[in-house]
Amino acid sequence: TINGSSRSETPHDKLLGGLLTAGFDEPTCVSRYYQSSLYRKPSPYKPSEYLVSKLRSYEKLHKRCGPGTEAYKEATKNLGHGDEKNYANKSVGECKYAVWVAVYGLGNRILTLTSVFLYALLTERVVLVDQSKDISDLFCEPFPGTSWLLPNDFPLMKKIDGYGRGYSRCYGTMLNNHAISVNSTPSHLYLDILHDSRDEDKMFFCPKDQTMIDKVPWLVFKTNVYFVPSLWFSPTLRPELMKLFPQKEAVFHHLARYLFHPTNQVWGMITRYYKAHLARADETLGIQVRVFSDQAGYLQHVMDQILSCTQREKLLPQVVAQEESKVNVSTNQKLKAVLVTSLDPEYADRLKNMFWEQPSSTGEIIEVYQPSGEKFQQTDKKIHDQKALAEMYLLSLTDKIVTSARSTFGYVAHSLGGLKPWLLYQPKGFTAPDPPCIRSTSIDPCHLTPPSHGCDADWGTYSGKVVPFVRECEDREHDGIKLF
Ligand code: GDP
Repeated sequence: TINGSSRSETPHDKLLGGLLTAGFDEPTCVSRYYQSSLYRKPSPYKPSEYLVSKLRSYEKLHKRCGPGTEAYKEATKNLGHGDEKNYANKSVGECKYAVWVAVYGLGNRILTLTSVFLYALLTERVVLVDQSKDISDLFCEPFPGTSWLLPNDFPLMKKIDGYGRGYSRCYGTMLNNHAISVNSTPSHLYLDILHDSRDEDKMFFCPKDQTMIDKVPWLVFKTNVYFVPSLWFSPTLRPELMKLFPQKEAVFHHLARYLFHPTNQVWGMITRYYKAHLARADETLGIQVRVFSDQAGYLQHVMDQILSCTQREKLLPQVVAQEESKVNVSTNQKLKAVLVTSLDPEYADRLKNMFWEQPSSTGEIIEVYQPSGEKFQQTDKKIHDQKALAEMYLLSLTDKIVTSARSTFGYVAHSLGGLKPWLLYQPKGFTAPDPPCIRSTSIDPCHLTPPSHGCDADWGTYSGKVVPFVRECEDREHDGIKLF
């Protein structure tokens, strides 16, 4: 237990309601089992039995088809060397794969890997992960007795970096060139599901296209959006999704807790910080400040927005003059710890000073902490990414959370924690938006830039209107959808 923490009193459920399998070696990845639940309250979202059984069958499939198996050898044997024309005559074995390529920041990566994994789960593919970046410094292996890392000698490895819309095996490009049909599919396809992808590429989400894509043994994804909500548009995938996730908004929450177990090094960073600064507090508040602006550095209107949101929503007390201070020595003062994360240290510094220089109107003691202030994004630098992961994770352990609009870093933090965030609207120009923030209706992340078209009969219908449980995102009207 953690000294003095009330969180340790509930008996912890090591396997998170059956999400996790027992039998992994514990010391090599201490975050995997009971350790996590010591720091987190039990989740109100329970995985369905169907999800649990589906994950167990997925693990068997991955073991049978994963790297080093006969099936993998068979599937890669003819890949890459002029195989395309005669591909129909060549054996590819019994397994199909979805390769995830690491692009964009860590928040984007966590969301897209989850999306590709769910797609693999639904279509009986095996997910393999590009390890050319630092993914194995961040996360333990999630599947027992096998590996999710794409072997370095994968035949297409050297070419993947160059895949883009101009590539002849890019799905949208093949559609444009009438180069693909149900009777003629290639042995691999590149799927481009980025914020600025063409409508052709987003046809990936349509059922007719899925019948073609389904025949292709190797799919290589480059994506930077959480595309799970758009999978629900497909009438073929939808019934299965409803069975897997009766609580629709909990898709990422469950899958992320299943997939992402920080390595011992990152877990050390998380737990040391937690014990030093958060464990003893009566209440914790997370504030994630992400500024999408060409102008680097501290911005006064963002600070104003943070204060106005946290005070309006009663997340933080106001400060008062010393004379008005309510404190009387005998009262048991509440301690509230505020965890701020930002590339810039100044927001937390100002908040900290504010609550030091003056007493709070409620008499609560407010302590403010910020683990790192990295100044600028340095994706793929190991220690930088490890800090980013540790901070997303620490935010997910807070009781209440304020996050910045359209930040995938913030989406991961609140959804992993099962928290409905207060979303800070993105400022237009240099003034604080009014109202400053809005409470989210759901814990699931937003799919930014979803397909703008429907499929077949729904063609031309805005995606946010196709299925009833997919809605526009509060922080991204007209260009973002989410499950709730
Ligand atoms: P997004 O750009 O907000 O959607 O989030 P991403 O995580 O995809 O990319 C932003 C990257 O910038 C992060 O992965 C970090 O590398 C860095 N970064 C942004 N905000 C923070 C922060 O609060 N703390 C740390 N440690 N890194 C941050």
